[in-house]
Amino acid sequence: MPRPSRHAMSPVGLVVDTVSIEGDRVLVSAHPMSPDAACTGCGQRSVRIHSHYERRLQDLPAHGRCVRFRVQVRRFRCGNSACKRQIFGELLGPGVALKAARRTARLDGILHHLGVALGGRPAARLARQVMLPVSRDTLLRVVRRRALPPLTGTLQVVGIDDFAWKRGQRYGTIICDLERRRIVDLLPDREAGTVAAWLAEHAEIRVVSRDRGGSYGRSATEGAPQAIQVADRWHVMENATAAFLEAVRRSMPPIRQALGSTVIDPALLTCAERIQYDGFVRRQDSHQAIKALAAQGVSIKAIARQTARSRKLVRGVLRGGDGDMFRGRQDTLGPHLARLGADWDAGCHNGAELWRRMRADGFGGGLRVVTEWATRRRRGEKAGRIMSRTVPPARQVSRMMTIDREQLSKADAITVAAIETGVPALGAARILFERFQQMLRVRDIAALAPWLLEQGAACLRLSVKVSARTSLPFGRHSPKHGPTARLKARSPS
Ligand SMILES: [Zn+2]
Repeated sequence: MPRPSRHAMSPVGLVVDTVSIEGDRVLVSAHPMSPDAACTGCGQRSVRIHSHYERRLQDLPAHGRCVRFRVQVRRFRCGNSACKRQIFGELLGPGVALKAARRTARLDGILHHLGVALGGRPAARLARQVMLPVSRDTLLRVVRRRALPPLTGTLQVVGIDDFAWKRGQRYGTIICDLERRRIVDLLPDREAGTVAAWLAEHAEIRVVSRDRGGSYGRSATEGAPQAIQVADRWHVMENATAAFLEAVRRSMPPIRQALGSTVIDPALLTCAERIQYDGFVRRQDSHQAIKALAAQGVSIKAIARQTARSRKLVRGVLRGGDGDMFRGRQDTLGPHLARLGADWDAGCHNGAELWRRMRADGFGGGLRVVTEWATRRRRGEKAGRIMSRTVPPARQVSRMMTIDREQLSKADAITVAAIETGVPALGAARILFERFQQMLRVRDIAALAPWLLEQGAACLRLSVKVSARTSLPFGRHSPKHGPTARLKARSPS
């Protein structure tokens, strides 16, 4: 194998003369490879050297040291008598460094990525750690210089949503051109007035795609009364997912029945599950009392007063939201259950030892999860019974029912099949949900009307209110809009 030359490590187009180490720096002297250069005025190439000067460039660090290039650059005389520029300095080319740059192009590229990924201050901190001392202002300058050129043409279809300056504390508004898929502007807050003022300055806007909240709706009505407002696809999809989850939540009692775990033997539960189970039983008692009162025709307000529960809770109970029995503690254990069972059967009944073995196998969960499993198993065996399977929480059921069947584990596939057989209304709702998703995905507006009719006749109602503005075809302007649809779950009949 040929020995790599030291030139191979410098940017293409430079010849390295000497390399020396001074303290924490590597100094590299170099000169351009090309014998001539093109005039910056007329473009004609010249070999007539006028003088030399030195350009200093910071480069990528090497071997834990900063690297500085000292490049001997030439000035040339232009041979073109018609050219106004008699003397010109040679350019190093975009692959080495830009005109007047103090960093090599490859270093600039890395700083750009750092700045985009982390922002000024954190990027500067990280850059210092990896031997790239640059200020946060420099990083932002690099990012700005490489920013996309400003938009041209008229802005007709915009998407408006909020983004977090600081999550949970401060939010701004992002406005995108949905036809060109580019960010148009960032507003400092999400106040209706700010957005309305911005929209009012853009009278050419025809369509405003927005979230389902009222604030941006008011802004659009005020600032862009000429524009059609549509719900963006993400928010409609999210709405549908929430509606399905709500339907699952309300079907938890029949799901429990379908999975054969309506009868819980408290003796088989671990301490943590016991506490959750006791709470569930208590809640069930109070829910029964609420339902009994409602059956007598007592108003929600009066029930709330009599039972000392909030009106929101009473309303929730009457709509069928009974909640989960257990919180989903065993998610992390799922993929490891087979292995755990095998180890147990092989004679290892010590929770800590089981956990250590699983850790070695890549299990990321805590010791407690495994010891709880072991306790339950021990009690189950002592009672001479097969362990009763606890029902997964509503969110997990919803996920299992809506993800791709091929991604399900065998155990989950059996659970889903049992639920769909035992609670056919939920199975029907899943099919409706999937068809709605597909409709949005392929922008099939023709499918909406039959879907609405059918879902009205289905046992599990997902009520959909479609605004009068659905005449806008899906994605005529961009993939982001669909009709303004509102999904809401109702109790299965
Ligand atoms: Zn010239």
